[in-house]
Amino acid sequence: MLKYILIRFISFVSHAVSAESVIESDTGDVTITEIGHASFNIDWNNISIYVDPVGDAYATMPSPNLILVTDVHGDHFQPDVLLELLSPSTLIIAPNALFGELFNTSRSITYNLQTIANGEGFNAFGVSVEAIPMYNLTEERLMYHDPGRGNGYVITLGDTRIYVSGDTEDIPEMRALQDIDAAFICFNLPYTMTEDQAASAVNEFRPNIVFPYHYRGSDVDLFESLIDEGIEVRKLENWY
Ligand code: ZN
Repeated sequence: MLKYILIRFISFVSHAVSAESVIESDTGDVTITEIGHASFNIDWNNISIYVDPVGDAYATMPSPNLILVTDVHGDHFQPDVLLELLSPSTLIIAPNALFGELFNTSRSITYNLQTIANGEGFNAFGVSVEAIPMYNLTEERLMYHDPGRGNGYVITLGDTRIYVSGDTEDIPEMRALQDIDAAFICFNLPYTMTEDQAASAVNEFRPNIVFPYHYRGSDVDLFESLIDEGIEVRKLENWY
């Protein structure tokens, strides 16, 4: 029931406007297009990747090469949106928990699904994807994200490494990340973490660029003020 409500809510607030941001690289510029909340697209050398596609905005978008899904919750995973986006050449990379959800759909459609667990990786279209744990640490938030269910991701495009946190707190696995060019970092209560936790973790693993995302109801300016010098904070305009 909660999932149904989330799906309805996200559908209602989906956006028609999006904003782009370019990460320059010797192996081809990486273009980020925000869609909303946890959803964004990555384009690199004619490869398109949709991260957590949910909401009405995708109705007019072409099928991507790759879809990454982080978790089962409705702000990250909407089976109908996913199925509309699929082409026979589209690959979905998702946590194992999603396999049953997709397999149980009554729709008859051909798709390619590769499930990976935390710590596993997969290569497709010249893109390397590694699943990073995502989970809650704080006692009263433990019910939201069990360790091992969802995947954060490190996506490697040529020499550019992009980290997508998924829904998580400032777990040791995030703090230990290395050589991250751009990091998408969530913060919102009660589901994930505070601005302080998020900034503390970012200051420890020091990506070159941090994109705050998935921060509904939180203070993105406070987060930015807590980030150490030398780390660029890119606040895209239309997450909400
Ligand atoms: Zn979420």
